[in-house]
Amino acid sequence: MNPGSLQRLRGVVHGMVQGVGFRPFVYRQATELGLHGWVQNSAQGLFFEAEGDREILQTFARNLESAKPPRAVIHDLELSYLEPLGYDGFEIRRSAEGGAKTALIIPDIATCADCLREIFDPANRRYRYPFNNCTNCGPRFSIIEALPYDRPNTSMKNFTMCPECSREYHDPLDRRFDAQPVACPVCGPQLAFWDSNGEVRTERDDALKEAAAWIRDGKIVALKGLGGFQLLVDARQESAVHQLRVRKRREAKPFAVMYPLLAMARHDCEITDLEEKLLRSPEAPIVLLRKKIGRAHVRIATSVAPGNPNLGVMLPYTPLHHLLMAELGFPVVATSGNLTDEPICTDATEALTRLHGVADGFLVHDRPIVRHVDDSVVCVACDRELILRRARGYAPAPIHLRTPQPTTLAVGAHLKNTVALSVGAEVFLSQHLGDLSTAEAHAAFHKSAADLPHLYGATPESVVCDLHPEYLSTKYAESLSTQVLRVQHHWAHVLACLAENGLEPPVLGVAWDGTGYGTDGTIWGGEFLASNGSLHSFDRVAHLRRFRLPGGDAAIKQPCRSAVGLLFEIRGRHLVDEVDLPPLREFPAAHFPPLLAMLEKGVNAPLTSSAGRLFDAVASLVGLPQRVSFEGQAAMELEFAIDPHADGVYPFTFRRGTLPHVLDWQPMIEQILSELRQGVPREVIAAKFHRTLATMVVAVAKERSAKKVLLTGGCFQNRALLECCVQRLRAEGFQPFWHRHVPPNDGSIALGQIIAAASHRSAIPTASSMHDLNLTLSPTS
Ligand SMILES: [Zn+2]
Ligand SMILES: [Zn+2]
Repeated sequence: MNPGSLQRLRGVVHGMVQGVGFRPFVYRQATELGLHGWVQNSAQGLFFEAEGDREILQTFARNLESAKPPRAVIHDLELSYLEPLGYDGFEIRRSAEGGAKTALIIPDIATCADCLREIFDPANRRYRYPFNNCTNCGPRFSIIEALPYDRPNTSMKNFTMCPECSREYHDPLDRRFDAQPVACPVCGPQLAFWDSNGEVRTERDDALKEAAAWIRDGKIVALKGLGGFQLLVDARQESAVHQLRVRKRREAKPFAVMYPLLAMARHDCEITDLEEKLLRSPEAPIVLLRKKIGRAHVRIATSVAPGNPNLGVMLPYTPLHHLLMAELGFPVVATSGNLTDEPICTDATEALTRLHGVADGFLVHDRPIVRHVDDSVVCVACDRELILRRARGYAPAPIHLRTPQPTTLAVGAHLKNTVALSVGAEVFLSQHLGDLSTAEAHAAFHKSAADLPHLYGATPESVVCDLHPEYLSTKYAESLSTQVLRVQHHWAHVLACLAENGLEPPVLGVAWDGTGYGTDGTIWGGEFLASNGSLHSFDRVAHLRRFRLPGGDAAIKQPCRSAVGLLFEIRGRHLVDEVDLPPLREFPAAHFPPLLAMLEKGVNAPLTSSAGRLFDAVASLVGLPQRVSFEGQAAMELEFAIDPHADGVYPFTFRRGTLPHVLDWQPMIEQILSELRQGVPREVIAAKFHRTLATMVVAVAKERSAKKVLLTGGCFQNRALLECCVQRLRAEGFQPFWHRHVPPNDGSIALGQIIAAASHRSAIPTASSMHDLNLTLSPTS
């Protein structure tokens, strides 16, 4: 080395670089190039210094980006050239303690090909070991207790490495170098199989085999998986699946299925290249696939996904799942280990109590789960992935903002709750926490709302919540002794969509969902909201015509109530003349007088502009189920009913005046009623209804001359509606945007709330004005 050209390169790497083998990667690059120096993790990111010839250092720096480990994501690489210090050799230093915690936590990663080969190789010392992992795969988010990501800060801290694991862990050239959860049959976690009373029946490999035998016998086995318990049952046995529905109190909502192999899933489902890529990805989510017609039901019991053309499919994603599925050789239902509406169980003792009477046996292990992380759900819409439930594999990867923000906690909505924390320019969105309606869910919410600030050692300067005064999340925000900012629900939807697409105003947001508290105290849900200059206030440009929901929230599970409210809006008392219509047949004659009184007086019959309830009403009118077991079920059935060959749209009236304009569906409903009398099939009506809604979206976009149109809210989980809107908007010269990495449903409300808080703050120039934060974001008109 020419001493004259010797330089010291100092680097700081920000991004997802801890827990993905980045330090050994830096070590290998440096030693191969003969550089001297060190690399180190800290709570702020990864630091290194390398000394050598300037040209070699430049090659080194280029390689860091171009040859980085597969799971690493570099957000920012700061480099500076300094005077050399004369390092001797290259070392990996212990993680540095202290300072603000801005390093990124890696989501859990599905088993890599190397680890998979080992567990099926009789000559390997990890043959049939269910907790095999390496730097490229294994548990991360579900086992991390604190940053930096080192073994003593994970739930592996109580497992002392055996000499062989320790050698691998300390060898920079080994695949397990610095892999925090590294383990083997000698020193790592082990399996046990319990009966329903928690008595140990078998251990280790025998436990796995016994659990498999029970599943083969049609029994329900609770499996302690990666981020919580799953309930497993033979997906081919009708009686077993039915039993699971009864015990879990889950009537109709589809179950997901785990197949041992992709080839076996292909037997039952159509799988496109992108869907295959998602199934095989390190995130390994549940992917909604189209069932094959005819052959499909041969293998999978009808009650797995009754009346649904789709099947939620996943592949094994831990060694434990791989071994169990190989033992079984057939698909199993793999659903969250909980009762409906409760969070997933993570602790074995807790599972024994909460899943008592649900599971026949428990396949457990002794590696603690630090936080519950459900299986994620994705589908392919408009030729790209669309995440519907964001948890394992995705959370807590951050959404990166352009500018750093003061630390803010957002507590989300009420259903499909997630919480979010902004630290610097990153927004950490929690995993799916579920609906906050049960005591267990409420407890899980409290834990998670404290979890992110704890992990990042951050004290939120303010907290953001929904406008709805009755949401448990709102009440939680109010209970904190910090400034509270309230953000309208649908505006939060729009901002979430805006953030994930990296857009700036002006935009037109189409936020359609079931329910959200409006600034006028009514229930919104069929909204067109536009930014007016900045993001901290908005115009309510238009909404769907309102109607009353007799019985309020009862309408969510009884679409016939939405239909009756809709008919009352256009017929008044004469709605009783439509007594032959399916929704009216649901009510005995004696129920009509009180029902009409409710609607006329507006007592327990709130006004709503909800698109979700409009879907319910139309589904009810065309004779789909009048009573459903989960929100959105009727709308889903209406989507599935679509005849793809039917064309045409219904008329509607676009009533323009002072804002907000109103999209009046009355002409559409009149024509649907007339077609029903003529016997037009519901498949045709369903197709025309979806197309009419897309036409409404285009009409408002034209009125507003908005170039960028954002499609968000739970209704845009409906692939037919999304694809129809995207296609129509593009055809008319607009630029449609929708979701991808965060869900269109309430799972992304917390992200939108963070954006609202950030933009609100940037509109306040001085720190003293920060005391005004306790105010409401509302339309300016
Ligand atoms: Zn691996
Ligand atoms: Zn070991």
